Amino acid sequence: MSYSEKVVYFIQMNLSETVFYFNEDMKKHTTFQTGGNADLLVEPGTIPELQKLINYISKENIPYMIIGQGSNIIVSDKGLRQVVIKIGKRLSRCTIENEKLEAEAGALLADVAKEAQENSLSGLEFASGIPGSIGGGVFMNAGAYGGEIKDVLQEILVLTAGGELLIRKISELELGYRTSMMQTNGDIVLRAEHCKAPWYKGKYRGI
Ligand SMILES: Cc1cc2nc3c(=O)[nH]c(=O)nc-3n(C[C@H](O)[C@H](O)[C@H](O)COP(=O)(O)OP(=O)(O)OC[C@H]3O[C@@H](n4cnc5c(N)ncnc54)[C@H](O)[C@@H]3O)c2cc1C
Repeated sequence: MSYSEKVVYFIQMNLSETVFYFNEDMKKHTTFQTGGNADLLVEPGTIPELQKLINYISKENIPYMIIGQGSNIIVSDKGLRQVVIKIGKRLSRCTIENEKLEAEAGALLADVAKEAQENSLSGLEFASGIPGSIGGGVFMNAGAYGGEIKDVLQEILVLTAGGELLIRKISELELGYRTSMMQTNGDIVLRAEHCKAPWYKGKYRGI
């Protein structure tokens, strides 16, 4: 059985809200629309299912990579001999409660910025023109027009490379110019849990 077949068998047996595509054309998943096929592309539908999937493929030593909207990656024409895990539309819920905004990693930066604006929450205006997802944005501390994710993020939910769900505070994330700790420790960003615009006259506001 190939590694792709093993993963698909695991999904079929255990993960009802996760979808998969064999030999998926990566042109469909990258902004620059370049690159060959991925052996297998998987889109988890819930955080617990993503955790189970990561635990399984780590235990089996199967190579994988995470993508969001694919706006900051170029795929080789040779394609990808690993499981591509896309955190996209299926993990993109965004909620606002008591002036606190929480967005899953697959939510688009522009959509979250719009949601914030429609709910009179300041701070995310800079993100409205940046292509990509919240997960990809946190991963590289995306920014524009003098604003960056670092300014509005309080804490995130991650899945560690060891398969553990953890809340990480912004102070732990080592957010610098287009860099973060996630670029070295293998954490997967799952949700921006708690964001605020600290300059908003001392009054608590969501992003
Ligand atoms: C036309 C254009 C304009 C752009 N303008 C800007 C700009 O003004 N400012 C700016 O900062 N950037 C800009 N970018 C870059 C890009 O939009 C950002 O890097 C964006 O945050 C990438 O998000 P994504 O979801 O597309 O990530 P992807 O391209 O899918 O992935 C990029 C990296 O992030 C990792 N990643 C993605 N999701 C997760 C996750 N949930 N957990 C852990 N790692 C993850 C991937 O493994 C990969 O290494 C621009 C890109 C384009 C094409």
